[in-house]
Amino acid sequence: VPAAATQGKPRLLLMGQRRSGKSSISSVVFHKMPPNETLFLESTARVQKDSMHSFMDFQVWDFPGQVDFLDPTFDLDAIFGEIGALIWVIDAQDDYLEAINRLNSTILNLQPTYPNINIEVFIHKVDGLSDDYKLDIQRDIMQRIQDELSDHGVENAPINFHLTSIYNHSIFEAFSKVIQKLIPHLPTLEALLNDLCRSCRFEKAYLFDVLSKIYIATDSSPVDMPSYEICSDYIDVIVDVAEIYGWPRSDEYIESLEGEPWNKKLEDQVACLDAESAIVLTDMKRPIMLREVNKYLALVAIMREGSFEKMPLVTMNVETVADGLTKVFEITKQRNMVS
Ligand code: GDP
Repeated sequence: VPAAATQGKPRLLLMGQRRSGKSSISSVVFHKMPPNETLFLESTARVQKDSMHSFMDFQVWDFPGQVDFLDPTFDLDAIFGEIGALIWVIDAQDDYLEAINRLNSTILNLQPTYPNINIEVFIHKVDGLSDDYKLDIQRDIMQRIQDELSDHGVENAPINFHLTSIYNHSIFEAFSKVIQKLIPHLPTLEALLNDLCRSCRFEKAYLFDVLSKIYIATDSSPVDMPSYEICSDYIDVIVDVAEIYGWPRSDEYIESLEGEPWNKKLEDQVACLDAESAIVLTDMKRPIMLREVNKYLALVAIMREGSFEKMPLVTMNVETVADGLTKVFEITKQRNMVS
């Protein structure tokens, strides 16, 4: 079951050879480290079980060293039994033949017992490589893996390829694609976001994992990088503000902020504990709105120019969709508990 995971979270395992870029990826994506600072990272030589405030469960493993398939005491099931995706990082700026050999033997070892694990190959550090060269490398790597697997009678293993770099948003884009395959009811989430875009005349809506700024669903209009970047930067701003002013807040504190006399104008509104905000960026002229859905997820949308006046209607629709999204996740959780 691809979606089965610890506490209902999709679980990702990041593997690859030393210096391939694993710690950098996890630091940039999950710990907000500026890419330049990864130059000074100590290489990982340990299992990192990040306990994170994220929608997904994420671990980093170094390879070689940590997985010895021939060691009978090694509990493979504990590691691979529940994972949704195995992300394999290959350094595209280095000689990658050894990395491919190890990946091939890992896939061949896992295939018989865990045929459903999605293998996601990150052809990494492609910044600085020309577009032609990137595609050549990708073709070469795909061919070498396919040849080796079919020599061993393994056809149609679920393997996907992504060109990534921590120096641009490609790493986030790749993670978004990886995670979306693990979301049960993704079509339902997408349908909700499509409805929202239609009813509120939004240009684009994303459901983001707040910690990593990976989007786990979006409406069906095409993703363009500038809009994605603006939305993800906006999350940073809101998260920073929420860290300072957010909960857990005592009841007295909330009362002092939101009770008499401040609540007078809000009497008609439903009490709402989630963060919500909207902003108009002057260079873009289009408002952006953000609404927290649960403790991990936030809805971020780009509105159309001039639609700020319709904010009350927008807020109402967003409220309904946020409820809908929450319900979808509750259903998923129940099903995971039953199975
Ligand atoms: P690990 O041993 O797999 O955890 O590898 P590290 O994360 O320590 O990365 C090794 C080196 O690769 C570091 O100097 C990083 O700055 C560099 N690196 C990581 N990702 C990228 C990338 O996308 N592009 C480039 N050019 N360098 C990267």
